Amino acid sequence: EIFISDGAKSDIGNIGDILSMQNRVAVTDPVYPVYIDTNVMGGRAGNIAKDGQHWDNIIYIPCTSENNFIPEPPSVRPDIIYLCYPNNPTGTTLSKNELKKWVNYALENETLILFDSAYEAYIHDEGIPHSIYEIKDAKRVAIEFRSFSKTAGFTGLRCGYTVVPKELKLYDTSKKRININRLWNRRQTTKFNGASYIVQRAAEAIYSPVGKIQIQESIDYYMRNASLLKDCLQKVGLQIYGGDNAPYIWVKTPNELSSWKFFDRLLCECHIVGTPGVGFGPSGEGYFRLTAFGRYEDTIESISRIQNWKL
Ligand SMILES: *Cc1c(COP(=O)(O)O)cnc(C)c1O
Repeated sequence: EIFISDGAKSDIGNIGDILSMQNRVAVTDPVYPVYIDTNVMGGRAGNIAKDGQHWDNIIYIPCTSENNFIPEPPSVRPDIIYLCYPNNPTGTTLSKNELKKWVNYALENETLILFDSAYEAYIHDEGIPHSIYEIKDAKRVAIEFRSFSKTAGFTGLRCGYTVVPKELKLYDTSKKRININRLWNRRQTTKFNGASYIVQRAAEAIYSPVGKIQIQESIDYYMRNASLLKDCLQKVGLQIYGGDNAPYIWVKTPNELSSWKFFDRLLCECHIVGTPGVGFGPSGEGYFRLTAFGRYEDTIESISRIQNWKL
């Protein structure tokens, strides 16, 4: 049920190979762009809407400060829903009960959940699921993508794994239930040559006693950056989200500034680069993502610049 790969992004894109082009896809908005763009390439997104921001065959579920970044099931039933928690870009999480609602929705509506847990290792608070399979019966509806990139600095080395439970059965075009695990196995053996042995040994090492200590140290290092950044942003009066169980801080731009206007000002006035929220989808407009994945010294330097910033 566990397929080792060269990373979660590849598998998240490749999973479309075994899914019908007729499937209706839903995403939370803002979103990790890979979920949208791979469906554009796969032919499931439809056309770009007149506003230039939405794809007309994709269901967008807005997650903003108004709903506390907690997605509600959409009025139109999707065949596939992508969920990513802890979330990139908002840094927010779902509790066990909130995630359970989605598992139950998927069970009732025959929806496939594609669960991305790339930031699972950054969860600090209790009661936040590290895997969707902590929820009863999730094995019947969910595929989970796991990655060593953020957990253990494998963004360049490349390793991850995807869990495709044998209990997961979906309808084929003739309305027959089929085993997705077998389909994915066929896809991978046909088109993927495996993660290299040396990289797998490196990934294996993170489960050793010393490896566990080392990755926890680097996670703590980044989360210290997150907490320092958070304090600073709050002190200067910005409304922020995330940063407790994820290495990202989602900033509400002040005075209704657009994401890009805020980007320009932060760049030109503080010489700090971040990511405009609108780049992650229309509901990201008016927000901005800051990362804790930097050096401690640089984080401290950014903080002193932000403290002296006349916004
Ligand atoms: C970074 C990231 C990934 C990428 O994982 P790789 O294993 O490096 O391919 C997947 N999902 C999200 C949400 C990410 O932010």
